[in-house]
This record gives sequence, C-alpha cells and structure tokens, in this order.
Amino acid sequence: MYKESKFNISFIRENANYMYNSHTGSLATLDEEYQASLNSINQKDLMNIPDDHILKLKEAGFIVDEGIDEFLIYKYMTNNSKYSNHFLGLTIATTLQCNFRCPYCYEEHLDSYFDVEKEENLKKFIFNNLEDKKALSITWYGGEPLLQKKMIDRVSKELIKFCDEKKITYNFDMISNGYLLTKEVAQQLVNENKINSVQITLDGGPETHNQTRYLRNGQGSFDRILENIKDIADIINVNIRVNVSQNNVADIHRLIPILLSNGLNKKVNLYFAPVTVHEGTCQSVSESCLVTEEFSKWETELIDYADNLGFEMGNMYPSNLGGGVCTAVSNNTFVIDSEGDLFKCWNEVGKKESRIGSLTEGITNINQYVNWIEWNFPEKCMDCSIFPLCKGRCPDMSRNGKEVECNQLKFNIVDRLIRYCMNNPSTPSENEMIKI
Ligand code: SF4
Ligand code: SF4
Repeated sequence: MYKESKFNISFIRENANYMYNSHTGSLATLDEEYQASLNSINQKDLMNIPDDHILKLKEAGFIVDEGIDEFLIYKYMTNNSKYSNHFLGLTIATTLQCNFRCPYCYEEHLDSYFDVEKEENLKKFIFNNLEDKKALSITWYGGEPLLQKKMIDRVSKELIKFCDEKKITYNFDMISNGYLLTKEVAQQLVNENKINSVQITLDGGPETHNQTRYLRNGQGSFDRILENIKDIADIINVNIRVNVSQNNVADIHRLIPILLSNGLNKKVNLYFAPVTVHEGTCQSVSESCLVTEEFSKWETELIDYADNLGFEMGNMYPSNLGGGVCTAVSNNTFVIDSEGDLFKCWNEVGKKESRIGSLTEGITNINQYVNWIEWNFPEKCMDCSIFPLCKGRCPDMSRNGKEVECNQLKFNIVDRLIRYCMNNPSTPSENEMIKI
C-alpha cells in the first residue's frame, strides 16, 4: 500500500495541476489520469492504477510506502549529519570590535582581539580537533573580521599548510560589512587565504542603508561599500544580504536599479532576509522587524520587481540540501570569539554566561553544550510540508520551549515554484523536474 508524501505541495497554474515534493525536489504537472491515480491512492483503492503510474509517482517521491514515517526518517538523516565525526566547522570572531554601529546589532563592541597567546591557543585547538577529520570549514566573523586581517593571514597560512599535508579539504568564507574590503584585500584573501566567498549586508538604497549601517562616527557607509563591491565582484563570490524591515522595505526598490546601473547584474548573488529580534541591543529595534509571514510577501514582491527590471536573482528553486541542520546543534561545530571562549551559536558571541568552554580547557559547561545538541524540532514541524527545506528553522529561536516563527517559504513557496515554471517553460532540469 502507498500513501501521499507529507512533503507534497500542489498548486494550479494555467489550468494545470502541479505537484512539488520538498524532500526529493521533484516538480511535475499531473495530467488527469495521474491525478485520478493519486486520488485513488488517497482513497486506498489501488486496484485500477497502472503500474507505471505507481512507479513514476514513487520515483518522484509523491507517494511513499504506507508504513513509512517520513518525519522520523528525515530526523534520522539530520542526526546522521549532526553527529558526523568527519567534519570540523568553526565560526571565528576575530574581534568583538566593529568599525560600524548598526542599531540592530546584538553584539557589544568590546575592545577584544586575539593576542599572541590566544592566537596560539586557537591554532592548537584547531589542529587537535582536526586530527581525525576529513574536512574543515571556517567562517571568519566579528565584529568586523577585517579589523584583524593580519591575524586571519597568519592563521590561514598555517591551517592551509596543515590541511594540505593531511589531505583535509577546506572551505573558508567571511561575513564582513564590506567597508574595508578593497580590491587588494579581496585579491589577497582569495589568493593566499583561500577565502572563496564573502557575505556583505546592505540595508536598502543609500538613504536607509546609511541610517542603519553607519560608522562609529555616524558617517554613512553605502558609497564606499558599493565601490568595493564593484571592485571585488570579479575576484571573489559576493553574496549581498539585504536586511528587510518595516523601515527600509520601500527603499529596497531603489537599491536594485543602483546595483544594475553599476554593472553588478550577474556578478553578485542578492538575497533578502528579515531583521530578527535577538536578545541585547537588537531589542531596541524590535518594532521595525517584520514577522515572517509579512516578510514572505515582501520577498516575493521584491523578487518580482528584480525580475521585471532584468536583475538576475538566480533560479531560486527550493532545493533540499540534505540532512544538514543548523550548526549550533551539530557535534563538531563551534563559535570562537576573541576572548578565547567557545559557543554553539553565533548570537551568543561575547556573552560570557552562554559560553560552553574555552580554547584552552575545551568544553567545560557540558549542560549548556548538551542543551544545544539535544535540541528537538518544534512539534509543529512534524506535519510540515516544507520540513526538509526548513528543518525547524533557527534552534536559538525555539530553544527552551520558545515559539519559532516559520521560514518564509512556508508562506511563499508556491510563488517561488510558479516563478521557476515561468522562467523555465520548456527545459526543466532533469534533477529538479520529472514530467509526468
Ligand atoms: S557591521 Fe555587523 S558587527 Fe558591526 S555593528 Fe553592524 S551588525 Fe554589528
Ligand atoms: S519552523 Fe515552520 S516552516 Fe520550519 S519546519 Fe517547522 S513548521 Fe515547517
């Protein structure tokens, strides 16, 4: 016996019935015969269903064996990935200081840097923890990581040598505000430090960006960041994160033509993100945060707007990237700050009370550590059709019984799929679309 997958999402477009599955990524139009077969399966009447219908529906993941608990299987997959011992993932805050003073920033800007001793401790910690690993991933983070660029240079050089000798694969990236990211800096980061991508945030057009992302002296940063992005876009992969809040949503419409007229179409990856509330300084802007459902509408509208202007946003096909869940609840992933403290989540950087240990002592607060690792998916996720795409969203938001807001895809996935169909009318990729 078979049943419909709980990860199916159906919609109608131009009088055709579409079906998408968030686990397999299949997308298909179901003709009347297939639709009738699916209805029969739902009524537990398999008598008159042709074998090839069963085969194809199963292959696409639209039907599964009756006894299968898809949520449990998916949970098993995420556990496999989160308890894996092959990988070390680090987010390293080179300093807690920043050259910006964004009002929504949740970090306190302490004058904390890696000195010679802490840098040695960091390298020892990484080398020791890499002994039995096959892959290393580092995100250079802050404050502003480039305030400590020389430290990044020194540590990267030794890590690259170590990994090359031990045949450990590595992937390095950076989250920077972009102000210090000149052409020369980017060139060096790529060539010598093997950093392959950088995430830079813009908060809309020049006016609103300068109101929320300003220097310590209050001066705006938009023009300089834009110049830097133009200079580096051919050197390093640039992901532009555009924070969307009630305050800047209208102004983002001005940003996209600016990126276009500055020759950045097809050179950068642009995406939108909601400003979320975390404890600490971000509380002060909580009124301007968009709840996710509202954000999802703005996201769809902004993507449409970019499409109409001819700005390349990529195919944005909702793909499940495997079992991987947030690194905060994974085994071999740590956030390290410039005090030499270890954390599980980067929202906690600099908060002594949340540390799970230190570079020199390892994990000392086992309760705190286990509390993260043993995080469970919120109950509402058990019946969610986009669970494989969202995986319970942000554990930090739902830890200790807190209610988590759903991923925006929960509200706009059909918009996303229709956009994909419109942009790919006759040549669907075989991996993504199975035509039935
Ligand atoms: S650039 Fe980042 S770290 Fe610096 S103040 Fe803004 S949000 Fe905080
Ligand atoms: S947080 Fe919401 S969207 Fe994400 S898996 Fe859970 S129920 Fe689904």
